[in-house]
Amino acid sequence: MPRPQPDPANGRPAAKLPDRTEVLVVGGGIVGCSVAYHLTRRGVTDVTIIEQGKLTGGTTWHAAGLVSQLKSSHSLTRLATYSARLFEELGEETGQATGYRTAGSISVAADEERWEEILRGASMAKASDVVTEVIGLDRVKEMWPLLNVDDLIGALYIPHDGQTSPVDTTLALAKGAKSRGARVIEGTAVEKLVARNGRVVGVETERGYIEVETVVLATGIWTRQLAATIGVNVPLQACEHFYVVTEPLEGMSPGMPTVRDPGGYTYLKEETGKIMAGFFEPRGKVWGLDGIPRDFSFGTLPEDWDHIGPVFERAVHRVPVLGECGLQLFFNGPEAFTPDGVYYLGMAPEVDGCFVAAGFNSVGLQSAGGVGWALAEWIVDRHPPMDLTAVDIRRVFPFQGEPRYLAQRIPESLGLLYAMHWPFRQYESARNQRLSPIHDRIEAAGAVFGEVAGWERPNWFALEGQERVYEYSYGKQNWFEASGLECQAVRDAVGFFDQSSFAKFRVEGPGAVAALNGICANDVHVPAGKAVYTQWCNDRGGIEADLTVTRVGETEYLVVTAAASGSRDWARLRRGCVDHDVTISDITDELAMFGVMGPNSRALLSELTSADLGNDGFPFGTTQRIEVAGYDVRALRLTYVGELGWELYVPREDACSLYDAIFEAGGPHGLKHAGYHAMNSLRLEAGYRHWGHDITDEDTPIEAGLGFAVGWEKASFVGRDALLTQRRLPRAKRLIQFRLEDPDLLLYHDEPIYRDGKLVGRTTSGMWSYVENRCLAMGYLEHPGGVTEAWLEAGTFEIEVATRRIPATASIRSFYDPLNQRVRG
Ligand SMILES: Cc1cc2nc3c(=O)[nH]c(=O)nc-3n(C[C@H](O)[C@H](O)[C@H](O)COP(=O)(O)OP(=O)(O)OC[C@H]3O[C@@H](n4cnc5c(N)ncnc54)[C@H](O)[C@@H]3O)c2cc1C
Repeated sequence: MPRPQPDPANGRPAAKLPDRTEVLVVGGGIVGCSVAYHLTRRGVTDVTIIEQGKLTGGTTWHAAGLVSQLKSSHSLTRLATYSARLFEELGEETGQATGYRTAGSISVAADEERWEEILRGASMAKASDVVTEVIGLDRVKEMWPLLNVDDLIGALYIPHDGQTSPVDTTLALAKGAKSRGARVIEGTAVEKLVARNGRVVGVETERGYIEVETVVLATGIWTRQLAATIGVNVPLQACEHFYVVTEPLEGMSPGMPTVRDPGGYTYLKEETGKIMAGFFEPRGKVWGLDGIPRDFSFGTLPEDWDHIGPVFERAVHRVPVLGECGLQLFFNGPEAFTPDGVYYLGMAPEVDGCFVAAGFNSVGLQSAGGVGWALAEWIVDRHPPMDLTAVDIRRVFPFQGEPRYLAQRIPESLGLLYAMHWPFRQYESARNQRLSPIHDRIEAAGAVFGEVAGWERPNWFALEGQERVYEYSYGKQNWFEASGLECQAVRDAVGFFDQSSFAKFRVEGPGAVAALNGICANDVHVPAGKAVYTQWCNDRGGIEADLTVTRVGETEYLVVTAAASGSRDWARLRRGCVDHDVTISDITDELAMFGVMGPNSRALLSELTSADLGNDGFPFGTTQRIEVAGYDVRALRLTYVGELGWELYVPREDACSLYDAIFEAGGPHGLKHAGYHAMNSLRLEAGYRHWGHDITDEDTPIEAGLGFAVGWEKASFVGRDALLTQRRLPRAKRLIQFRLEDPDLLLYHDEPIYRDGKLVGRTTSGMWSYVENRCLAMGYLEHPGGVTEAWLEAGTFEIEVATRRIPATASIRSFYDPLNQRVRG
C-alpha cells in the first residue's frame, strides 16, 4: 500500500490519492485547471487534477500575461475572446483575484506588407466581433511615449485586449473547480498511462494506481513523453522563450496597452512602471529534445545573449531607452511548440478516452479559458462544441513525433509566430518526409513543391527559366502566370496531377457494406464498379469527412480522402468498423494516384488502352481495372476540377513507367503538368467544397449544398435523424459562391461578407479564377428566413478586404459549368 509522500514544494504529506476518478486531468498549469473548472461547471464533479510539482510550476508561472483576442482563424479567435471575458469575471465568482485588466493592445507596422497583414486581420476581427481601431501614430505616441514611431506607417488598436496574472488566474480556476468538488493533488507525478482494448483505463503514479474513465493530458512540454506511454503521438517540443524586464522607467505607467511589433520580433508590456520586452526570434532554440526532467518545476534556463542579441537590437530601435536603461531580469523559460504552430485539442485518435490539451506555442494563457470550456464540452458531449478542425489532435502524423523532425521544424514554427503570415507560405525546414514515387520526374518537369501531411506535392510548375521559389505577397504571386497556364490546359486540353499523397484505405470482408453504410451519409450499397461521393457525418449531421467510397468488388471498397485528413479519417473508419466482420488497411503508400483531367483526357488515354472510355463503356462515377500502356491500373472516372477525367491508381513500382507512357503520348493532346494551386482554383470555379475550410463538423451537407450526396432512403446512418429534421426547415445557413468584382484583389478566408451593408457571413476559402479573371470564394451566409435565390437576388453583396468593402456577386451555383455538363461529356 503506497504511503503519502511529502509534497516536495512544502514538505507536507501530499493529498490522498483516489482509487478511481471519472476524469483525471494530468497537469496543474492554467490549461489543466481551466479544463477542470469547466468540467465542474458542466456538472462533472468527480474530477481530479494531478500535478507532479505545484500548480503553475510548469510553463504557466512565467508567462508574460498577454491576453489578446485576434487569432489566425475565426474559431481560435472565439476561444481567445471567451478567455478574456472569463478572466474578467473569474475573480468575482471565485473570490480569488486574477489580476486581469483591459489594457488594450497596439500592433504596429513599419512596411506596407505588414500593414496589409494587420489590416486584413482587422477585417477578420469584424467577422468575429472583435473591436479594432486604426489609430494615428500621434495617438500611439500618446499612449506609449517611449516608443519610436518615426518609421511606422500604421497602427491597429484593439481596446478590449487584456493582461492577466498567470499564477493568480490559474489559482482562481483551481479554486472554482475545487468549490464544485474537484480534487487537486500536488507533488505526484503520473509515470505512465494504462490502456486496455484501445481505451484508457488508468494511470500509474509514483504513489499508486488510479482508475480513470477519461484522462486529459494538460502536461505542457512533458506531453510527448507521457502520451507515448500508451502509443499516443503528440508531436510537440520545448523551445526557449525569452523576455527582459527593465528597471522602473519614466514614461511607463499602469494601464498602458501591450505593443506588438512583429516586424521587430518584439512585444512590449508595462509592468509596475517597467518595460517587459519579449521576443519571437526568426529561428527558435529547442530545449530538452531527449526528454524534459520531471523535477523542472519553477525552473528557468540560462540567458543567451548570442542568440537573442540581434533581436534585442531591433527592440532597441523601437524603444531606444532599452539600450540605455538597466535590465533587472533576463528571463528564459521553456514553452511547448508544435510543427504547425497551432495547439492540440481533442481525443487522441489512437486511444479512446485519452484527451489532449497541449502545445500552446506561447498563447496558452490567452487560449486557456476557451480551451478549457471547449474541451470540457467535448468530453461531456463526446463532440467538440464548435468547429475545432484547426486544433484537432487528429491532424498529426507519425513522422511528426520523431525528435529529429521536431529538432528541424520547431525552430521555424516559433519564428513564424511573428513572421509575415503570407498566403501560400511554405515551410522551409524538415522537408522531404514523404515522396511520391514520381517525385524525381515531376521535379525534373519544374515542380515547385509545398508540403501537406509530410508529402512533397507540386504546387506549381515553373516556366522555362523561372526560378523555383515563392515570392510572397498578398496579391498575385510569382506563380500566377504559370498556374494560370496549368488551369488553361485542364480547361482546354488535358492536365496531369500527381495526387499520390491522397490517403487510400482498403475495406474488405463480408461486413464491408454494413460498416461503411453505417458511417457514410450516402448509400454505398451500390453495384461493384460504382464510386460514391459521400460525407461522414456526426450525430448532429455535421460533416466529419468528405471522400469517395468506391465498391471495387462484392465485399471490397476503396476509400480515398485528402492527404491532410488521412489520420483523422482512418481513426473514424477504424472505430466505425469495430463491430463488423471487415479488415481495413491503409494502402496510401502502396499506390500512386494520377489525375488525368480535361476535355482531351479521353483521347489521350484511349491511345494507351484498349478499354472503352466512352460514356457508355465507362460512365461518370464508375471504376474499372484496365490496362494502360501495359500496366494494371484501377481507373476511376471522377474529378475534383470540373472536367472530363480519370483518376488512375497504379502500384508504386509501376508509377514511373506509367507516367513516362502518359507523357510520351500526351504531347499532341496538349498534356501539361498541373499543380495543387491550379487544382484549388479549378475546384473553386466548379464549386467543389474543401473539407476543413468550406465544410467542417459544424456544417451539414444540407447547409453545404451537398444534400444530393445523402442517401435519404437509407434506414440508418450516423447523422440521419438530424439531417431529416433540418431538411424540413428553411435553409437559414447556406454555403454560397462569390466573385469579387475587383481585377486585382485576392481573398483567402475569414473575410466578412455584407448584404446591403449588414454582416451576414464570412468566407471559408478563396482563390483566383483564370476563367472569371476575378477572385472567387465560398462562404456561409445566415438568414433566419432562409438563404434563398430570391434573398440573394434582392441584396447587394460586399466582401471586406483589409478594411475596404469590395462589391461581390453571390451565386448558389458554381460560376463554371453550373449544370455539370463538362464532367459528363
Ligand atoms: C516566457 C514565456 C512567456 C509567455 N507569455 C505568454 C503570454 O503573455 N500570453 C500567453 O497566452 N501565453 C504566454 N506564454 C505561454 C503560456 O505560458 C503557456 O502556453 C501556458 O502556460 C501553457 O500552460 P499549460 O497548462 O499547457 O502548461 P504548464 O503550465 O507547463 O502545465 C503543465 C503541468 O503539467 C505538469 N506535469 C507534466 N507532466 C506531468 C506528469 N507526468 N504528472 C503530473 N504532472 C505533470 C507540469 O508539472 C506542469 O505544471 C508564455 C510562455 C513563456 C515561456
